[in-house]
Amino acid sequence: MLVMEPDRYSRQILFPGIGAAGQQRLGASRVAIVGCGALGSFQAGALARAGVGQLLIVDRDYVEWSNLQRQWLFEESDARDALPKAIAAARHLAAINSGIQVQPLVADLTAANIQEALEGASLILDGTDNFETRYLVNDYAIRQGLPWIYGAAVGSYGLSMPILPGRSACLKCVYPEPPSGVQPTCETAGILNAVTSAIASIQVGDALKILAGDAASLRPRITTVDLWSGDVRQVALPAPDPQCEACGQRHFVHLEGARRVPISLCGRNAVQIHELSRPIDLRELEMTLSPLGEVRANEFALRFFLAPYEITVFPDGRAIVKGTTDTGLARSLYARYVGS
Ligand SMILES: [Zn+2]
Repeated sequence: MLVMEPDRYSRQILFPGIGAAGQQRLGASRVAIVGCGALGSFQAGALARAGVGQLLIVDRDYVEWSNLQRQWLFEESDARDALPKAIAAARHLAAINSGIQVQPLVADLTAANIQEALEGASLILDGTDNFETRYLVNDYAIRQGLPWIYGAAVGSYGLSMPILPGRSACLKCVYPEPPSGVQPTCETAGILNAVTSAIASIQVGDALKILAGDAASLRPRITTVDLWSGDVRQVALPAPDPQCEACGQRHFVHLEGARRVPISLCGRNAVQIHELSRPIDLRELEMTLSPLGEVRANEFALRFFLAPYEITVFPDGRAIVKGTTDTGLARSLYARYVGS
């Protein structure tokens, strides 16, 4: 590759933090990108251009028109064809850099498939939109001793946090439980495209530093960015918490599949989901969803009409998604509209 295109990585090799040795390490690396939305598509494009040798793209969703505003790899034809994001991403990445290998995986990452799906990856980048998958990735990364980089963005705000097993706090040290209450999502609160590339850039910067062989000098910290208020903040991450269920006690509940899984309801064209172990305030959810479509709520259930689907949410967090038998799609709708 370097023989055919001697100039391709020249500007990156000139950068002292990478150099020729770092570039070789990038070429020999395998990175898993979990979730290929706004963050994941930016990460994938940047790492492909940087010459990371193998990229694994895992995503359960397909490209929609509302994605094009911020999901950097996708084009109108992808939305028109409703292509799976992993597939569309792999096509575009191949056009960006034919000298690397890109492996798309159209799947919902679960306890049952994570070991096989992420096999061989030396680093994991978070491009997901839900805490359930992040806890799963955290358990896996801690157990395997792999670095992973958490990222999230909504509205004009985002944050990034590298997790370096054994060296600094993991996701569960910082968030022993998922954030409580109805969380804003891109579908309910909107999002600025620039905050996604800002956060993804911080994640990619950390990834390149680790992959190029300079993990030891990476500063474990949480970075928060608000591109509307202009606030940029950093907080140093503490050492791993010995009491932490994941990295302290090495009790990997998310890998054990102890969590409830969605069940396709036979003959009803519906999927039952019970992913949250916390109650939901239906009145709060009603206020969030009302601007987006018809909502009917009482104290027992909330029904949200989003043609061709109908989502019924119960106060204990359980939901039934009507209009599909695809558990991956139902979980995706749940994560988008109810939260994670
Ligand atoms: Zn921990």
